[in-house]
Amino acid sequence: MIRTVLRKTGRGGTALPGTVAMKISRNILSVPAKDMEIVLVTGTNGKTTTCNMIEHALTDGGHDCHRDKSGANLLHGITSDLLCDTNWLGKPNSHYAVLEVDEAALKQVAPLIHPKAIVVTNLFTDQADRFGSVENTRKEIKKGILLSPDSVLVLNAQDTQSAALALGVPNKVIWYGLDGSVGEQGDVDLSDAGKCPKCGSAYEYDYHIYAHLGGFRCPKCGYAHHEPDVTVTSIDKMDTSGSTIHLRTDGKEEEVFVALPAVYNVYNAAACVGAIKAMGLPASEAIQSLATVQSAFGRMETFELGGNVLQMILVKNPAGCNQAFTYVTSFGDPFNAVLCLNNRTGDGHDFSWIENTDYEKLCADPHLQKLYVCGDRAQDLYDRLLRAGAHQENMELVTDYSKLVDELEQETCTTFLLPNYTAMMELRTALSPKTGNKEFWE
Ligand SMILES: [Zn+2]
Repeated sequence: MIRTVLRKTGRGGTALPGTVAMKISRNILSVPAKDMEIVLVTGTNGKTTTCNMIEHALTDGGHDCHRDKSGANLLHGITSDLLCDTNWLGKPNSHYAVLEVDEAALKQVAPLIHPKAIVVTNLFTDQADRFGSVENTRKEIKKGILLSPDSVLVLNAQDTQSAALALGVPNKVIWYGLDGSVGEQGDVDLSDAGKCPKCGSAYEYDYHIYAHLGGFRCPKCGYAHHEPDVTVTSIDKMDTSGSTIHLRTDGKEEEVFVALPAVYNVYNAAACVGAIKAMGLPASEAIQSLATVQSAFGRMETFELGGNVLQMILVKNPAGCNQAFTYVTSFGDPFNAVLCLNNRTGDGHDFSWIENTDYEKLCADPHLQKLYVCGDRAQDLYDRLLRAGAHQENMELVTDYSKLVDELEQETCTTFLLPNYTAMMELRTALSPKTGNKEFWE
């Protein structure tokens, strides 16, 4: 009966069938999940991309894997999605599933599905009007972990906040990270580092990677970062198509191509290898698949327009935005940047995070040719950019996306599109007819 209800109400990325099914039984999600091996992915930045990487590793390795494409990451949406992918007996169509879970929804989802692995990408200040501080986000995730003592945790060894999730829980942990010798990869901003969870002292660092990620240790009690089980030992080369890295796990080091660029995707790739190991599968399945992984919508997605390349990078908080700036300014070639800012429900209404974002770094780059500014909060962003040192003669405030696309069609150098969530949807819709990239529901 539930399936009939679900079929009649349809999918299309809505949580409605899940809401209906949960009226019938609150714990209905546990029904298909009990026959599956499931990885949950949570954290501030990189959830969708990391899910993509893990799904690709599983399917590339010949396994059936369920993956929600609608972006639903709350309990009702996940319930809808998993129930819709069952056969007429209510049995799941796939043995494996990779599910993106909102940080605050983990405590509801995890106890129903008994995930084999819980991956946390990283923890940064995000959606201040929803979570408050990064410590609150960590507490939300910890509640979910405490309800899943049998799940293997896959954690970022260099993130002070993620590392603290492993304290006082019986879970097995697989740590992933970058070797200190990889060196600093952009701005060091320790505002999200927090204090030592054992004695409350401020951390010291033996090395920095970016933001508060690095070789942290407490000078007072000795609590420190873990040695990773999956280690990126070098980043050898990077362009807009991806990164060549060296990766070490199980005592074996090899050259790996990750077909998505930027340092944060190197972390996501290491997390993916950790997740595959946590599932009890050989790390080689993940390592080989990274060379052919494709971008998720708006996450390093490339478009061709008027013979020119556009690359879209979703940015929604200072840490993600600063890393995107590190990436776009790393090539030494002329480029344009399109910055779009909305503050609708899907973005968080509080957009004060732009004050803590390093636009100065972008504006100071001599290779930056033109800055387009759009979105509902275009004027606020325009003013912020002027304060960051942008030159008015190189800036254009555009409120109409189709006009923006017409202008971009005339551009002659690489253009990076940096929208936040709802702006990304609008911009993609405007680009679709001219670039042939699919709409997200297709
Ligand atoms: Zn301490």
